Amino acid sequence: MQRSPARIRPSSSASTPTSSSPDSAVAGLLDEWADLPAVDHHCHPLLRMSTRVERADLRRAFTEAVDPEVIGEHSQQTVVYRAALRRLAGELNCEATEEGVLRARAAEADPLAYANRLLRKSGTGLMILDHGFSGGEAMSAAEHSVAIDIPQREVVRLETMAQTAVASCANVVEWLMAVRELLMNAVNGGAVGVKTIAAYRAGLQLREPDRSRAEADYTGLRARAADGESIRLEGEPLCHLLLLEAAQAAGELGVPLQIHCGFGDPDEDLALTNPLGLRRLFVEPRFDGLKVVLLHCYPFHREAAYLASVFPGVYMDLSLAIPMAAHDGVRALEEALGLCPTSKLLYATDATRFPEVYLVAAALHREALAGALGQLVNTGWLMQSEAVEAGRQVLSGNARRIYELPE
Ligand SMILES: [Zn+2]
Repeated sequence: MQRSPARIRPSSSASTPTSSSPDSAVAGLLDEWADLPAVDHHCHPLLRMSTRVERADLRRAFTEAVDPEVIGEHSQQTVVYRAALRRLAGELNCEATEEGVLRARAAEADPLAYANRLLRKSGTGLMILDHGFSGGEAMSAAEHSVAIDIPQREVVRLETMAQTAVASCANVVEWLMAVRELLMNAVNGGAVGVKTIAAYRAGLQLREPDRSRAEADYTGLRARAADGESIRLEGEPLCHLLLLEAAQAAGELGVPLQIHCGFGDPDEDLALTNPLGLRRLFVEPRFDGLKVVLLHCYPFHREAAYLASVFPGVYMDLSLAIPMAAHDGVRALEEALGLCPTSKLLYATDATRFPEVYLVAAALHREALAGALGQLVNTGWLMQSEAVEAGRQVLSGNARRIYELPE
């Protein structure tokens, strides 16, 4: 079937001179969803409002690069950065350049009101936050819930939480039991899910962890924790034992396990982050009932879509890929929709730190969804009414169902 590039409706305020006029299916979908508050099922806290935004910060917000040379010379040359500047310029009513956006932003009198304005415009009705990442300047959960107008829930960051139990547990068995108890307490305290970054610390090729190596690794980790050093859990034996234990616990507690898959910053080895490596979680009886949400997935979104299509407890999103991969995020959504039931695809921004990111990621994600589903309408695969309903599932219904959130 011939595929033409999906056309995206530019936001009403942004001037997007390169966009052609929207086709009616795509525009119709965006209109149908315009009043639907989205559940952003995976995002991170904003920074404290006193934080100044420099040129490099704005660039870093739209790339997974950390290398100063890449940030300095190349990150501003990406499609998503240029599109983000135009969109932000529309919002800030300024010139669509880096300087223009930074100047207009610095002139905002009330940074908190500004942040809430952008977040409201993002169409977000609920944020499910991972407070475990974003650096020392990030608002705490308590600060965030007061400062930001949008309702919020939390997921527990598995590795960060597990590290806190190392100093007080003599061996791996004790440690895993302590982690179970911490998870249970977190869920009883209101956490709606568990998030793992095993992809960064060990990769996702789950085999049977080597228990004696795990004990040896643990002894070293515990000695450092006892000396008051900050510790970093890494390596397959411990990280995979932890992941398997937490997966079982999450299944028993009835909360989804979010698993970072696919691309991220270069701290991870992308070759080890294919979600196909997680097969044990989907076929072993000890994980019956477990809900697994594969986050990001790109460029393994087709593998993720396959898993979601055959295993009952598997869900996926294309957060981070949208916005970072720009127009390729739309294509990725189209590809994911090849196998993934629309009841298993979730919406998230993975936004962090700056309000600009939430707005841009949210707008581009809605547009990508409209672009991908609109394309399926235009090519006869879906009825318009089916596409409208699919978008409602993705933006809100699916997350409300799997995280058991009230309407
Ligand atoms: Zn994230």
